Amino acid sequence: MAWDFSTEPEFEEQLEWMRAFVREEIWPIEPVVADLDQAALDRIYAPLQEEVKRRGLWAAHLPPDLGGQGFGQVKLGLMHEILGSSPFAPNAFGNQAPDSGNSEVLALAGSDEQKERWLHPLLAGDLKSAFSMTEPESAGSDPTDLRTHAERDGEGWVLNGHKWFSSNASIADFLIVMAVTEPDARPHQRASMFIVPVDTPGVTIVRDVPTMEHPAESFGKLGNHAEILYEDVHLGPEALLGEAGAGFLIAQHRLGPGRIHHCMRWLGVSRRAFDMLCERATYRRAQGSVLGDKQTVQNWIADSAAQMQAARLMTLHAAWVMDTQGASAARKEISLIKFYGAGVLHDVVDRALQIHGALGYSTDMPLEAMYRYARAARFYDGPDEVHRQSVARQILRGYEPPPDEVPSEHVPTRREASRRKFADLLEAVTAND
Ligand SMILES: Cc1cc2nc3c(=O)[nH]c(=O)nc-3n(C[C@H](O)[C@H](O)[C@H](O)COP(=O)(O)OP(=O)(O)OC[C@H]3O[C@@H](n4cnc5c(N)ncnc54)[C@H](O)[C@@H]3O)c2cc1C
Repeated sequence: MAWDFSTEPEFEEQLEWMRAFVREEIWPIEPVVADLDQAALDRIYAPLQEEVKRRGLWAAHLPPDLGGQGFGQVKLGLMHEILGSSPFAPNAFGNQAPDSGNSEVLALAGSDEQKERWLHPLLAGDLKSAFSMTEPESAGSDPTDLRTHAERDGEGWVLNGHKWFSSNASIADFLIVMAVTEPDARPHQRASMFIVPVDTPGVTIVRDVPTMEHPAESFGKLGNHAEILYEDVHLGPEALLGEAGAGFLIAQHRLGPGRIHHCMRWLGVSRRAFDMLCERATYRRAQGSVLGDKQTVQNWIADSAAQMQAARLMTLHAAWVMDTQGASAARKEISLIKFYGAGVLHDVVDRALQIHGALGYSTDMPLEAMYRYARAARFYDGPDEVHRQSVARQILRGYEPPPDEVPSEHVPTRREASRRKFADLLEAVTAND
């Protein structure tokens, strides 16, 4: 019987190295990042990326034949837990979203030519990419309603549409765009994916949308989210990724592992906030004792530890199901962790912020930024409500109405059945009375 929570010693050594590397080399980028432009950031990253490659940890989400490590989701999950502690760490490891998800899509659905032209330079860190699906005019939580469309034009296509929240699009070299190509097909077979170089005529990056996470107007920074117009964009046949109408199928493969990695990264953020919460509890005094002596604070610490442990085990379990039984088998587990993990992240960061009082609310601590980051987790890759709905639907498939709509656990009905089952015994007991 296999039921093992341990990590192989060789991989644990790699994780140990990653913990130290991220803390010593990546965390120091954070307080000065606002003063650096993209070129300066790239210069800081270059030697770090080299070091990661030397350690054999670069682009670990991809199979070895594509220059990755073929780790599988459990190992990747453990790795992302460490990288999640800083928003700047994944870029040093060649698995920065959305490049990581896009490279998986290209690996999965790309032709040899597409891999040569887009995937290999993406993996080498020579190109940047974005994933362009969400639209201001239609509900991202129901992408079967996409308005962006591409019509056949001889051998190629003409693309028209309006997207926003395409993360990193303003620094990207190419975009992977979801567009309706088969309007008369069944809802999940209507859309296709296209590889669109950003400098294609008709593509306009309108702006980077200021958000709760980055409220100041800025353009062309890692982590920004672009609004994009596609106006009569002429694409050759080589732009189509996979089969026409296979967009959702490909997206599903991209989103499953991506959600596991998000959830593990959130645990990295939660852990960092939790450490701040606990540290503050040891020295801040009020009403004659340190905060760690107050029961409310003790509850925060215990509840946070329990929630993080639960989210971690649930996420690693989802990763294990994916590794052992495939992406489809893990659908329920992935939806479970997506909304549960986002809630845990929010709760832990909120408590850490609260225990720091005004200091926590100020930009003198990273907590207010973590809080703003945490809020987005409840939207991207599917809002909480959609994942809850998906979990509930899958669970309800295992149930059916009871005969005559009498609940299976109805005590009087069960009592009747039990009396019939044990009639002999009950008769003997009555006779002995
Ligand atoms: C930080 C960030 C980064 C992002 N990056 C990208 C990216 O790189 N590429 C990209 O294409 N998109 C990206 N997105 C967009 C994201 O995927 C969408 O925001 C998400 O899919 C929700 O779509 P929507 O915003 O259109 O909300 P809507 O679909 O309009 O939903 C609004 C709200 O309606 C409610 N709702 C929806 N469905 C249900 C239901 N079934 N039951 C009950 N309530 C429901 C939910 O509360 C939901 O929050 C990003 C978003 C954020 C915040």
